Amino acid sequence: MDKPIASVSRTRSILNTYDLKAKKTFGQNFLTDVSVVARAAESSHCEGAVIEIGPGIGALTEQLAMRSAHVRCYEVDERLIPVLEAELREYDNVEILLQDFLECDLEAAVSILLERYGSVSVCANLPYYVTTPILFRLFEGPQEIEWITVMVQKEVGERFSAEPGSPEYSALSAEAQYLYEVKKLFSVPGSAFTPPPKVDSAVIRFHRKKGVHTEPGLFEFIRACFAQRRKTLYNNLKEYLGSGEQAGELLAAEGIAGNPRAQQLDCEVFVHLYERLKQGECV
Ligand code: SAM
Repeated sequence: MDKPIASVSRTRSILNTYDLKAKKTFGQNFLTDVSVVARAAESSHCEGAVIEIGPGIGALTEQLAMRSAHVRCYEVDERLIPVLEAELREYDNVEILLQDFLECDLEAAVSILLERYGSVSVCANLPYYVTTPILFRLFEGPQEIEWITVMVQKEVGERFSAEPGSPEYSALSAEAQYLYEVKKLFSVPGSAFTPPPKVDSAVIRFHRKKGVHTEPGLFEFIRACFAQRRKTLYNNLKEYLGSGEQAGELLAAEGIAGNPRAQQLDCEVFVHLYERLKQGECV
């Protein structure tokens, strides 16, 4: 019987067989620690359908396939498609798509998977160069995705537990804290990857809160409040609304004094500001 894809020897053999080198431009760092991929898959609530972004050579995919009814993978590197098809041939529940995840129709995919498999989760070791856009796409995507489990660089992981006022707090933190119960599951050292990245990683799990208000205009508004980190909230709002007067009135109506930056405010404040704007039909 073959060793798991995530084992050091099998990864080495796959890379040699297909004459593959990890492409930095695609953020490729392949996991070579079976216990790490098994633990991530095990914690991901992947029983129904699971979406994996960037399967690489299949280290995590294999562990998901063992635990899930259906695995749908989006991989942008065409060299890896025949590798995945060959190495995962014994699993008939894996669907491999050559597609940039940021360009897929996530709403349509989730709706089809949900109907067929009853639940849809996400589990992925994210490519570092597009971690933030991928997370925004997931957060602002279909709310039927109840669980998202991702491996990210340690610094990105820290943003989700960052309190307002700390340098790590960002629009991504505010959205994540508003929409999800966020839990850091475990740390992963650089030595668990081939090639090893310079920084450590962490596996973070997001569990969707019930009944939170999620219209696209709200997310656009939150990102606009943080648009220029060095600018005050007033200045970012002035830009977004196209009127300093309106920005000043909005902040005053919400009782926000002292000209703060968005990084100093709790996510609930942005929700209140947005609701106030909407009531005035300014959005
Ligand atoms: N899941 C594998 C593992 O854990 O060993 C590989 C993870 S590697 C950090 C990131 C993977 O994402 C690579 O296979 C890369 O080609 C792929 N990727 C990069 N950008 C992508 C995108 N926009 N959409 C889909 N896959 C992408």
